[in-house]
Amino acid sequence: MELFKGINQIKLPLLKVGPENVNVYIVEGTEGNLLIDTGWNTTEAFNTLALEMKNSGFAMKDITDIVVTHFHPDHIGLAGKIQELTGATVSLSEIEGNLLDSRYFHADNLLAELSSFLISNGVPDWELKMLSEASFNIRSYVSPFTTTKLLKEGDVVSMPPYEFQVMATPGHSPGHICLYEPNKKYFFSGDHVLSEVVPNVSYHPQSGENPLGDYVKSLGSLSELEVRFVFPGHGSVFSGLGPTMDDILRFHRDRMMRIQRVMGVETKNAFDVAKSIPWVVNGEETAYDKLEPIDRRLAVLEALAHLQYMVAEGKGKKMSENGKTIYWSGE
Ligand SMILES: [Zn+2]
Repeated sequence: MELFKGINQIKLPLLKVGPENVNVYIVEGTEGNLLIDTGWNTTEAFNTLALEMKNSGFAMKDITDIVVTHFHPDHIGLAGKIQELTGATVSLSEIEGNLLDSRYFHADNLLAELSSFLISNGVPDWELKMLSEASFNIRSYVSPFTTTKLLKEGDVVSMPPYEFQVMATPGHSPGHICLYEPNKKYFFSGDHVLSEVVPNVSYHPQSGENPLGDYVKSLGSLSELEVRFVFPGHGSVFSGLGPTMDDILRFHRDRMMRIQRVMGVETKNAFDVAKSIPWVVNGEETAYDKLEPIDRRLAVLEALAHLQYMVAEGKGKKMSENGKTIYWSGE
């Protein structure tokens, strides 16, 4: 569907986790067409893309360039398949380009690391298998591709008449990027800023030490940006980037207060914390025990992002004891 002249949005179906659709965008240039994000590598998503493109007057071979905002499978999954069919270039952030292989294509080490990471953060054995497998299945939804360009802050993705500035916005993923078109004031936000759900921020073996701190800083770096429309990875196009970012920051402040409240004066591991606060599923507060395995894993990793943030901000402490990591709040 053409949203604005030259800017087409297609909604592709997801698996039965998280939001319902992922948005991909086709930017029509005079010398080619840029696909921003790609959808899961499933037959259903591919067929939807092909059909919707056809309805909008494109053939698959019209895609000349692909940029993915981040390496989560709903955004990067079809890149390889589309590249194979079209010869399109595929560009992503340098940070994530360097992590791709260990994340998807030779992932045994990372999976082992994630298991011991979950154990050290209090996840009991009986729950571990379920949580680890929740991520294992997702890996098959990414098709391998050849990376054309590794992008960094300040790089320009040119698709005349559009010139997109690459903005490094780590937090939701370690090398997440957004694309900003300064003439039109269009902002392709990936999953960095969404208006209908709060983007997930998790601490895990590939996230860096303080992903929530990175995320908050990335939001701050956008505060002066002049934006007319935000084209997000999920949900509807919106204006009002500033108020949406304020809502997200408020959400994290509230969650932090909740976590500090449940911690009281005791030491706690991340699993205990995840079990003691409610989680939002489809807009409803849900207890940990009622969550699906994939959401349980995210809950533990999100609780960890908050605990790491608390430590980085000097509002809490952390130590390792018999291979287990424990946190407590206080200066
Ligand atoms: Zn996404």
